Amino acid sequence: MSVKHHISDAFLIDYASGTLSEGWSLAVATHLALCPKCRKRLAAMEGAAGALLDKSAESGGEDVAWARFKARTIDVKVEEIKPVAASPKVPPVLPEPLRSYLGGDLGDLKWRALGRGAYQILIDTKDTETQVRLLRIPAGKPVPEHTHEGRELTLVLAGSFRDGDDLFARGDIEEADGDLLHTPTATEGEDCICLAVTEAPLKFSSWIVRLMQPILKI
Ligand SMILES: [Zn+2]
Repeated sequence: MSVKHHISDAFLIDYASGTLSEGWSLAVATHLALCPKCRKRLAAMEGAAGALLDKSAESGGEDVAWARFKARTIDVKVEEIKPVAASPKVPPVLPEPLRSYLGGDLGDLKWRALGRGAYQILIDTKDTETQVRLLRIPAGKPVPEHTHEGRELTLVLAGSFRDGDDLFARGDIEEADGDLLHTPTATEGEDCICLAVTEAPLKFSSWIVRLMQPILKI
């Protein structure tokens, strides 16, 4: 199944130009690892930017601009997935660069209970702008309804979730901001595992959940 929900131009341009902080970069690079279409978009952006920067260098402009443009926090790593017949080994569920951040694939992870059957793993980055976590939402269950102080990226790695009329499956990325009040719900049949990056703590509608936020670290 191919990816249907892609990263926006705004995020991709910031990623390409190396101005995106580590948390956002991890989500973008992990989406790129799963999405050939966005890798092509990135290559096209780099081509256009390279041509522009070459021109400015020729006319005595900034000659380190190109090097700076390519200086990203995190690079995309696309793994070659061998055909099943050639390799009895099951390909990893978590792509790079995310797998290295977590120190292993799904089977190696130590989840922390969030209550109501949900689990999370907080992922350390060096940036203070974002909070990065792997979330496991039980099949058929919602993430509590919330709005955002800032932007949020949610990338599906296993299972799927519905948000309104949209279905997000492996590789799909959802962008949310402060205006969106939503209740993403994991679809039946399989737990939904996703990478979630936020720039501020989530703002939950329910005062009970708000009260629990410091304890749950969400
Ligand atoms: Zn994409």
